[in-house]
Formats: sequence, C-alpha cells, structure tokens
Amino acid sequence: MTRRIVTVLGIVLALAVPTACSHGGKTTGATSGGEAAGGSTTSSSAPADGSSSSTSGSTAAPTSPSSTVTTVKGSAAGSGPASTATTRPATPAGSVPDRQDAASGVFIAGDKGTGVAAQPGGAITGRIRAGVAMAVDARQGGWAHVVTPCENHLWVKVADGRVEPTADIVIDAGHGGPESGAVGQGGLTEAELNLAVARMTVEALAADGVTAALARTGDYRQTLASRVAVATAMHPKAFVSIHHNAEPDGPRAGPGTETYYQTGKDVPPVRSAASKRLAGLIYEEVVRALSAYKADWVADTDAGAKYRIGDSGNDYYGVLRLSAAGGVVGSLAELAFISNPSEEALLKRDDVRRAESAAVARGIVRFLRTEDPGSGFVVPYPRTEPAGGGGGTQGCVDPS
Ligand SMILES: [Zn+2]
Repeated sequence: MTRRIVTVLGIVLALAVPTACSHGGKTTGATSGGEAAGGSTTSSSAPADGSSSSTSGSTAAPTSPSSTVTTVKGSAAGSGPASTATTRPATPAGSVPDRQDAASGVFIAGDKGTGVAAQPGGAITGRIRAGVAMAVDARQGGWAHVVTPCENHLWVKVADGRVEPTADIVIDAGHGGPESGAVGQGGLTEAELNLAVARMTVEALAADGVTAALARTGDYRQTLASRVAVATAMHPKAFVSIHHNAEPDGPRAGPGTETYYQTGKDVPPVRSAASKRLAGLIYEEVVRALSAYKADWVADTDAGAKYRIGDSGNDYYGVLRLSAAGGVVGSLAELAFISNPSEEALLKRDDVRRAESAAVARGIVRFLRTEDPGSGFVVPYPRTEPAGGGGGTQGCVDPS
C-alpha cells in the first residue's frame, strides 16, 4: 500500500510513503481508488488498456485479411467476456473450475532474441530480448501475433523461439526493470526478490510434477495486462502474483503475510470460492514456513487472506481483476515486509527464499490436489488510498 489510513485516537491520518509495494496497483498519476493499473486510465495506447472492451479486438490480426489468419476466440489480453464463465456448469465447492479456453499459448523468444514486425513476413522493426514470454493471439504461416511486455501488438517468427501451449500454473513476479516496487533500507528491491522467489516457485512446482511458467522472465518492465495475457494464453488452473510488502501498521508476533483473492462483482461465485481457497492455502503455508525464522515481524492489523474491491465493484488490483475477467483463478501474495530491516535481512538469504517459494508451491499443489479450505481469512479494514504506481503502458519500453 502506498498510503495507509490510520486511525489514531479517532483521528484519521493519511500517511504517504514513497517506497511502497504497488502490488498491481494504480498507474502513475491516477488518484482515485478502485481502478488499478491494467485498466489504466492514463495510458495513451488503446490496446494497452486491459479493461474490458478495448482488448477484445486483439484477436484479429490488424493488418492481414482475416480469412488467412488463425484467430482464437477471446482475447489473450485477459478481457474474455465474463459471461462465458457464468454459463459453465457449476463445479462442486472446493474443486478447481475448468480453465477458460480463450487463447493460444505463449511465445518464448529464443537464445538470440527475436525480431518483431508490423506484419507477418514484414520488415523487422525491432527486437525482443531472449527468454521473454509473450501471449500469442493469432498465427499466420510461420509467424505469431504477440502481445509484448509493453503491450505492443506485433508479429514474430515462430522459428526465432518456441511456443508453449499450456501450463498448469503461471507465476508472476511483481514489478521489474525501472519499476522496482518496494525497496528495503538495505537496498533489496521487490522486483529482484519477487523474480528470484517466482523462479524458485516454478522449480518447486516442477519438482512436484506441476508445469509452471513465469509471466515475467527477467529484469524488465511489463504491464499488468501483458502479464495477465501470458497467464490467460496458457489456460492455467491458477495464476499467482508474487510480491513483498511495505508500510506495516506495526509489530506482530509472527509473519505479516497477506494474500488477496478475487471476489469482485463480475467474478462468478465458484471462481471466487476457488480464488479464496487458493489465497487461504498460500497464506497458511507461507506463514507456517516463515514462522520457523526469528525476526522482528511487522504487519497490517488485518493481515491474512483477504480482498480489496475498487470503486467499480470489481477487484482493485489489476492482475486480479484482469485475470478474473479472463476466467483465470488468481491470487496476489505479499509474502513478507521488505521494508522491515529485520525481514529484509532474512529475504536476502537464499534459504529463506527457498522456504518462501516452497511454501507458495505447497499451497498451490494443495489447491490442485486437495479440497483443503485454507485459513487466515479476514475482513479487511476499508482502504481508500491508491496503491503504488506502475503497471501501465505509459513510458514503457520493450526489453531488447
Ligand atoms: Zn509489489
């Protein structure tokens, strides 16, 4: 949270702290609560806007005759119509709902990177760095139409990389590149820490037989909608965004872990229930794992598995709102407080990162393989101040 409303002796004070984790929060400059980035209101690029209708047209190749292009129903940018989810038969409580078949895999740039072109077979106008994952929303010949990290819609030669059609789980490492997220007093950045933990989480899942992919694969900037596009394109059973927190309310006897679930007005109840269970299981595992370490823990007074709703009645955090709109069950996890020197010292340690990621992976595996309900559910206190900036297209430059 960038700002926190704190009630002291009945007086409400607004405190501004600059280094807070934005965890999928608002785009820079936006001030009213509710429509966090991904539904960016400050973006100048129409297709970049992750909110509902603007991305629904991205299924068609923009410059090619539609008859020669293989398009995919729905949008890779996470704006698939919510109504498709509501028409599905209800699944029993506790089970994992069907994933939405709405996109067509993710292109991973090869070892030498990949050229990009405005049209299939067209002149190469730029490059994308090796290893970058981009949602594919159309194919033509040997070319794929992708959504870049900055939400440019361009063509790549499939031979310049590979296409991964699906993954059981997509893990998002919050922030990246110049968007550092929260920064500890010892200099540890959330972007770097989140990526390290996200990578280890993918490894831990793989070791348990769960295929997992990263939305952000390196140290570069990526919009929220682009991350969600990667997720929805892989038809995962769940999407988890990894963050570390700042601006606690005060000390706590144990870890102040927070997990958020999708429960906005457009989220079908069965999906919201699944998201809540996912958040509760990750919360349970992470708190248990971190409790093994000694630290001067800090927390918000409502630490736990919770939610935040924006003015629109939908989920406040962009990655949760957009993934929900794309029919993907998601959770955003604030694993520990990077802003707390005692916790930052722990978070610099490889063994602690391994313990965190193993815990996140265990929570996910239990979500997939059991009907355990999770725990730690709380009713959050009202938040009206915007989360930190970032996650939009403004000023975004694709990694080359
Ligand atoms: Zn964050």
